[in-house]
This record gives sequence, structure tokens and C-alpha cells, in this order.
Amino acid sequence: MKLYNIKERDEQVSFGQAVRQGLGRNQGLFFPENIPQFDDIDALLAQDFITRSTTILSALIGDELSTEQVRSMVGNAFQFPAPLAKVSAQVDALELFHGPTLAFKDFGGRFMAQSLATVSEGGQITILTATSGDTGAAVAHAFYGMDNIKVVILYPKGKISPLQEALFCTLGKNIHTVAIEGDFDACQAMVKQAFDDAALRQEIGLNSANSINISRLMAQICYYFEAVAQLSAEKRQNLVVSVPSGNFGNLTAGLLAKAMGLPIKRFIAATNANDTVPRYLETGEWAPKPTVATLSNAMDVSQPNNWPRIEELCQRMGWGLETLGRGAVTDAQTAETLKAMYKDGYLCEPHGAIAYRVLTEQLAADEHGLFLCTAHPAKFKEAVDEILATDIDLPAPLAKHAKLPLLSQTLAPDFDELKVVLRRVQP
Ligand SMILES: *Cc1c(COP(=O)(O)O)cnc(C)c1O
Repeated sequence: MKLYNIKERDEQVSFGQAVRQGLGRNQGLFFPENIPQFDDIDALLAQDFITRSTTILSALIGDELSTEQVRSMVGNAFQFPAPLAKVSAQVDALELFHGPTLAFKDFGGRFMAQSLATVSEGGQITILTATSGDTGAAVAHAFYGMDNIKVVILYPKGKISPLQEALFCTLGKNIHTVAIEGDFDACQAMVKQAFDDAALRQEIGLNSANSINISRLMAQICYYFEAVAQLSAEKRQNLVVSVPSGNFGNLTAGLLAKAMGLPIKRFIAATNANDTVPRYLETGEWAPKPTVATLSNAMDVSQPNNWPRIEELCQRMGWGLETLGRGAVTDAQTAETLKAMYKDGYLCEPHGAIAYRVLTEQLAADEHGLFLCTAHPAKFKEAVDEILATDIDLPAPLAKHAKLPLLSQTLAPDFDELKVVLRRVQP
């Protein structure tokens, strides 16, 4: 597989390099040079999830990894389903929240972990990351129990919710969690100091496993195929897919799936009040405003970092940006939509509700609609319970975690102390 840096096109890397490096020079994003096309889509859709995902990812990765290697990565990463749930005669939900941290990021995070382990061929890796809550859980669960990979997660002591803390600070094994006596910025500053220390970086094989890693997007392509595979031939004809978007990784993956031949008539980019992209598609002017806090806080992003990949892909495919549907939804509308969905028999959460709302506003009578449910309602329990007057249960595996003892150690916001910890966790 060959990828190039969108900002510095002469920088070309292999899959392995792209996975290890994350970003290219000048903070440029990597993008695949060749996007394979599948001619017999029906035959591909007839395969089971793991077989089909192996076919898709092997075609992308090419001969850099054997099919057996890819199959093993896929099998280890995708250990939970991506089912459709019928919301109305015309609309289905693609539920992406059946993984260990109850959000779609489990697919990308776990495949990235498998990719990193595979391309680093047994060398020692230390993943160091700071979290204000959710990413820590996804990273911890993605790398949990993997040989040769240590994970060190810093978080601000007392400043994340007890459930968030329980989700990643009770694992043990290769997952080391450190409560820092400071705020999130202090945690981030310590991570930055570690990456700036070239000797340390080399000594412990430091890697950030960050959110723009191409392997995440590649994994996400697979569940768009899995969604369409579950639809009847008739519904596949005129399919519209609505994606609740923050950093726009999910939409990038969907457009890549379409570029590979998946029959999707059009996509809708649905956002909350952080509406840089819908306004840009309307006016042609890129004018981010300060980020505002909303009910759908995983989408509180005003400068989406995957957007350049979408522009690149649309340009290469000759797709005009005007063909993208778009819509921005306020918190009041989100709450209203959640209530209406619940009344009609589907329990959703704010991110999915936003995608559903824009989809139903724009769906024509002869079209079939699909929207992505990116998180389990229990993940946003406080907001959902308040809006719907419910008391929703945590899924059993999570309820179990919430009762385990915390294994974190506490540290002052001091880089020298962190260094001691980083060296001590090495074998
Ligand atoms: C990360 C996230 C999103 C946004 O996805 P992007 O790929 O960043 O657009 C939406 N919903 C939930 C629950 C998320 O965690």
C-alpha cells in the first residue's frame, strides 16, 4: 500500500510507516494512492463480516501484509457485531456501539492497535496518551492484553466521571493509569514533553496512537459494507446515509466505501451547533467559530481535522461537494428528536438523534435511509435520562467494571516523575 501526504505530496509512505508515524511532515494527513474498486459488490456483500472485512482491507493494504495477517488482525479487532435496528419502514439505525467502550471508536481503535502490533514486528512500544475521559477508555481497551505494548494514560485527578474512570482504570495487565494532580492541559503538556525527549522516545518506543491514524479509517470502511449487506436488494437501490460528524473521520470512511463501489446514493453530514462544515458547504467559506459545548459533546469540534481528506477524495473522484447533504441541529431540536424517537419505540442518544433528524428532514419518498448510531445510550446516561425521564441500565460488562477497584497511581504534574513511571513499566 502506498500513501501520500496531502500537504507535502512528495512524501510517500507504506502502510506500516503511515501506521507508525500517524502524521506526515508539516502535520499533513496520509491518504491512499490507490483505492481498489470491487466490481461484484453483491458477491462481496454475501460474505460474512470478518471474511468481507479481510477482503476489503487486504485489497487496500496490498502485498505488504499477507491475507492471513490481515484476517488475524480483523478477527482480533472486530469481536462484536454492527447490527441494523429498524426505526421506521423507511429508516434503519446502524448500531456501532456494541464494543467494549460502547462507541464506534472501538472499531477503529482496536484495528489500529492490531495494525501497530503487526507492523512493529515485536519491537517494544509504549503508547502514551492524555485523556479528559473517553479516549482513554477506547485506547485502554484496544491495547489491553497485547504483548510488547505498554499503555500509559494520564488523566486529571478528580476531573473525570466515576464511570469514565472505572472503564479504563480497573483493567491492569499492560494498561497503566496515572491520575495527575492538575488539569487536562497539565496532562497534555506532560505528554508533549515526553514526545519532545528524543532519547526517551527511542528508548521506550513512544507512540501516540492518535485519532488521525489511517488504520482507523480503514477499519471504519468495513461497517458501511456490513450495513448495506443487511439491507434487501430493493433498499440498496436508493440508499441515503446520514453521519453524525465531529472530526469527520466517520464520513471520510463512508465516502471511501462508496469510492470502492458500495452503492450509496448520497451522504449527509449532520453536526450540532459546531457547524463549520454545513456553513462551508452552503457558502464556500471556511469560517470556524469558537467551539461551543452541546449535548452531543463528542461532536464539539469546530476545526474538523479529517476534512482535508474529504476534499481530496471528492476531488479525485470528481464528486462535487454540493452533492453532500448537510444539516446542523440545536440542543433543543436534539432533545425533541430523542423524545419523538423514544415515543416511536427507539431509545437513542444525542449523536445518533442528530443524524436521524437531518436524515428524516431530507429523505425523499422513494429513498431508504440509514443513520449511524455512534454511542450506546448508557454512555450519555445523564443527558438521556434527563430528557426522557428514564433510568437506563449499563450493559452488564460495564456494570461489572464499575464495581472493580481502581488501579491508578497519583502523580504530581512533574515530567521527571512521569519519566520514572515510563521506565518502570518496561519489561
Ligand atoms: C467521535 C464521535 C463522533 C464523531 O465522529 P467523527 O468521526 O469524529 O466525525 C460522533 N459520535 C460519537 C459518540 C463519537 O464518540
